[in-house]
Amino acid sequence: MSAFTEPAKKHLGQNFLHEHSVIDKIVLAVDPRLGDVIVEIGPGQGALTFPLLRKHGELTAIEFDRDLHAPLQAAAREHGQLHLIEGDVLGVDFTALAAMRGDANGQIRLVGNLPYNLSSPILFHALDHAPAVRDMHFMLQKEVVERMASGPGNKVYGRLSVMLQAYCAVTPLFTVPPGAFRPAPKVDSAVVRLVPKSTDQIKVVDRQVFANVVRAAFGQRRKTLRNALNSVADSGQIEAAGLRPDARAEQIEVGGFVQLANLLAHR
Ligand code: SAM
Repeated sequence: MSAFTEPAKKHLGQNFLHEHSVIDKIVLAVDPRLGDVIVEIGPGQGALTFPLLRKHGELTAIEFDRDLHAPLQAAAREHGQLHLIEGDVLGVDFTALAAMRGDANGQIRLVGNLPYNLSSPILFHALDHAPAVRDMHFMLQKEVVERMASGPGNKVYGRLSVMLQAYCAVTPLFTVPPGAFRPAPKVDSAVVRLVPKSTDQIKVVDRQVFANVVRAAFGQRRKTLRNALNSVADSGQIEAAGLRPDARAEQIEVGGFVQLANLLAHR
């Protein structure tokens, strides 16, 4: 009998993977190598944790649901060495974790079938610690992955696309149907790989200014840049950054936002 007796908790985004072919594809995509330090977000009942442990021997995992902690620890023993962090992933300092337990370069690799209600906060939290993260493999709603990877002119291109692409290479890997999970979510899912850029590849001078510009621009995405950005930049500055004040945010490349934010940062 399974050690896991509690029913899935909707408010914690618990949709447990059970389809072996999908689990195998994720493990193959992560491809853990000797010396890598893997950190799983939301191990749940171990669907990804145990195959990763069998392949890699050791893993750190962060799980919020206290009902899962003891059964997870017990069931993990036969597969490898699990270091379980009992708590909220948003409270985990990945930079400190990587400094303490990271690989030879002081980095960790993040993996997770994320709770969908927290996907954006988790993505932004990981971005805040990007230098400590070598790469990320996440299962998310397919629609979120499309937003993350889309470019100008696409109707789903927005704040998430620009913020992630400024700091990471975003590669959608494959889609996953609802039937791969128990209970089945209402939406299709997809696995995405994010690889943080190195410091010299990142062109953003001031992260806060950049975040403010992108938030303002897409806060009112139907408005022209001149109007949407009126609290952060005037038309002259928008033009000086090589952008047309009458354009809309959804038409601007990631590099355009970076240029404008850098100009404002140097003011
Ligand atoms: N990895 C398992 C799988 O693939 O079957 C479970 C995935 S389930 C979609 C998301 C997991 O994240 C659940 O185990 C849930 O309890 C956990 N979770 C939800 N909120 C969390 C948080 N703030 N911090 C850490 N884990 C969280």
